Amino acid sequence: MSSLLIKNGRILTLNQSNEVIDCGSVYIEGALIKEVGTFPDDQYAADRTIDAQGRVVMPGFINTHHHLYSSFARGFAAPGKPAGNFKEILESLWWKLDRALNEKDVYYSALLALMESIRSGCTTIVDHHASPSCRDGSLDIIEQAFREAGLNGCLCYEVSDRNRPGEGIEENARFIHKCLKYGDDQIAALFGLHAAMTLGPETLERCAGIGKETATGFHVHAAEDLIDEEVCAGKFGKTVMDRFHDAGITGPNSIFVHGVHLSDHELDILGGTHSILVHNPESNMNNAVGVTRILDMLEREILVGLGTDGMASHMISSARAAYLLQRHFHHDPRVGFLEAAGMLLKNNRAICQRIFREPRGEMSPGYLADVIVADYIPTTPLQSNTLAGHVLFGLNYAPVRTTICRGKLLMEDGKLLTLNEEEICARSRERAEKLWSRVK
Ligand SMILES: [Zn+2]
Repeated sequence: MSSLLIKNGRILTLNQSNEVIDCGSVYIEGALIKEVGTFPDDQYAADRTIDAQGRVVMPGFINTHHHLYSSFARGFAAPGKPAGNFKEILESLWWKLDRALNEKDVYYSALLALMESIRSGCTTIVDHHASPSCRDGSLDIIEQAFREAGLNGCLCYEVSDRNRPGEGIEENARFIHKCLKYGDDQIAALFGLHAAMTLGPETLERCAGIGKETATGFHVHAAEDLIDEEVCAGKFGKTVMDRFHDAGITGPNSIFVHGVHLSDHELDILGGTHSILVHNPESNMNNAVGVTRILDMLEREILVGLGTDGMASHMISSARAAYLLQRHFHHDPRVGFLEAAGMLLKNNRAICQRIFREPRGEMSPGYLADVIVADYIPTTPLQSNTLAGHVLFGLNYAPVRTTICRGKLLMEDGKLLTLNEEEICARSRERAEKLWSRVK
C-alpha cells in the first residue's frame, strides 16, 4: 500500500470544531487519511514526503452539479439571433450542441473539465450528461475519463422526451446496475432527468419505478426558469415539485438543481422529503433566470449544496458568486457570507455522504485522502473563526499547487501527473472546431 506524508502545512481540518493546525502533518496510507496533527516526521516511513512550506493544506472541493459536456461551448456563439430567454438558450445552444457531440467529443470534453477540476482543487464531481447522438455507453466514456484523471464522480444521463419519449432511460438503468454490481465507490450513479417541462407522466413513472427498484436517487433540474412552472401548470395542472413528489422522485438521495422559481409550498415539499437542492449562482446570473431563495431554503433546513452547472469548474468562485448575489439581492450586508461558505465546505460533503459510501471533505483519520495544497500563505490570522474569510477572499485567487485524490497525486507543484495536458488541449481545440461547424 502506498503512503504519503505532507508536512509543514497550515491544515484546515474542517472537522467539527473547524480546527486549523499551524505547522501540521498529514499521513496518508492507500486511499485514506491515517493521521492528522503535529507528529514527528519519522513517526511513519512514508514512500513520499511533500513539504507544504507553510501553505494551506485542506480537503479537495466538491462540485454537486456540473455538465462536463459543456466544455466545448467556451467561445462558441450559437448561429442565428442571440437567445432572448431561457427557452431560446436551450433550443439555440444547448440542445443543438449536445446533439452534435460524438463519442470522442464526450471523452475530450470530460477530460478538459476534469483537468480544470484538478487545477482548481476539486476532487469529487457530480455530473449531469446529455449526448443524444451517442447516448448508449456515453456514461462509460465519462467513467473512463474520471478513472484516467483519478477523480471521484457521480454520473447520470439526462432523460427527456424532447427528442423521443423516454430517451436515456436505458442508459441510466444500465449504468446504475453496473455501479451496483461492480462499483468501487470512486464512481457512483444517480438517475438523471432533464426537467419537469420536458418529461411526460409516462416517462416520469418509468423512471421512478427504476429508481425505486434500485434504491437510487434522482438528479434533475427544477424550476430553473419560470417556463418550467408555466409548462407544468398549463400541461399537467401541477407545480414542478408536486409533479416530482407525486411521481415518487423526491427523497433524501435526490438532487433538485436550481429551484429558482419554487413557491413556499414547493419548498415545503423539498424540506418535508429531505430532498437536496443544489444552487448554481453563476449559471443563474448568466441565463438571467432569477435569484434562488437560499435563505428561505436554509431556514427550512433544506440541504443546499453548490455547483457550477457547466459554467466552470472552480468551486470557490461559485461560493463567492452565491454570497455576493444574496447580499446584493437582499440589500443586506449581514447575509449570504457564512451561508455560502457552509454550502461549499459542509453541505456539499453532506450531499456526498448520501450518494457515496466513503466519507470525504474533512482532514481526519478514516476520511478519503482527497487533499489539496494551495499556494496560499495567510497575511492575517488564519484560525477556525476566520477560515471562511480566507477561503472566499484569499484562497479564491491562489492557485492550487498539489492535488491528491484517493491518496494518489494527480498534480504536484502545478504539473499534472495523470493527464497529458498539452495533448488533451490540442485534441480538444481540433474537436471543438469541428463540433462548432456541425451546429447549425
Ligand atoms: Zn444543469
